[in-house]
Amino acid sequence: MSEHSSDEANPFHSTSTNESADASNVGTGLAPVLPAPVLNPSHTQNESALQPFLDGLYSLGLELNEEQLEQFLRYRHELLDWNTRMNLTSITNPGEVLIKHFLDSLSLLMIYDTPTAHVLDIGAGAGFPGLPLKIVRPQWHIVLLEATGKKVRFLQHIIDTLQLHDVEAVHGRAEELAHKAEYRAFFDLVTARAVAPLPTLLEYAAPFTRVGGMMIFPKKGDLTEELARGKRAASHLGAHFKADIHVTLPGLDDGRRLLVWEQARNCPEQYPRSGGVITKNPLG
Ligand code: SAM
Repeated sequence: MSEHSSDEANPFHSTSTNESADASNVGTGLAPVLPAPVLNPSHTQNESALQPFLDGLYSLGLELNEEQLEQFLRYRHELLDWNTRMNLTSITNPGEVLIKHFLDSLSLLMIYDTPTAHVLDIGAGAGFPGLPLKIVRPQWHIVLLEATGKKVRFLQHIIDTLQLHDVEAVHGRAEELAHKAEYRAFFDLVTARAVAPLPTLLEYAAPFTRVGGMMIFPKKGDLTEELARGKRAASHLGAHFKADIHVTLPGLDDGRRLLVWEQARNCPEQYPRSGGVITKNPLG
């Protein structure tokens, strides 16, 4: 068990280079007061990787109940099983799934954590980050938007298997769905991981985000140029940049960060443009 008494001991250390530190819901200091997690012996068989996952959760101020831990382990089992028949993830080490998919998804809670929320995950793929968020925040309403039909079938299988409620797997493309009235400017939080460069992500996401709502995009690596283009794109979309939060997952220091944007006013009706136009003439 880690004592979590300092940042050095904290496996989930984060630092911020945010431009506006007073952003509501933007926070980086994690000071959990929960008791340290205790492993149930039935979960620890051949599973040394579970402890770093629990430590990482603890650093986020999260503690899973028995049902949630079972849901994560069943999700991982189904993911790796389906992955033998279709391409869902390149991460096939069971311990890495816990950290690089589940914990990485949950890192969004450092930035945004409210009792209730309407959340959209664009290009959810096998469910990241939307499904781990749904498991730990069951009261959130979550829409998982995915362009590939067979991935939507996997998402629906997980929703059914884990008996999750108030979560929808929707087959479609962001640039088309964003023009439907029921989705337009509706969501409190819009996220997307590993889907597109920032200018395109913002053009997909801003039309879905209500005024005052947030967009959070997990990214990795040197983003100097991409972030500059993202900021120029945001100025067309009624959004502005709020924060760049660095994230270190247990055992990994690989340049992960969360880029946080706020929808300051309604996105102009013309966005998002069609997929072809976005590709040929990206904003920014
Ligand atoms: N977000 C998941 C993750 O981080 O593991 C999946 C990432 S995968 C590399 C990108 C996913 O985005 C693919 O499943 C793809 O079908 C989906 N996608 C790409 N463009 C999209 C769009 N315009 N609308 C909806 N889904 C899209």
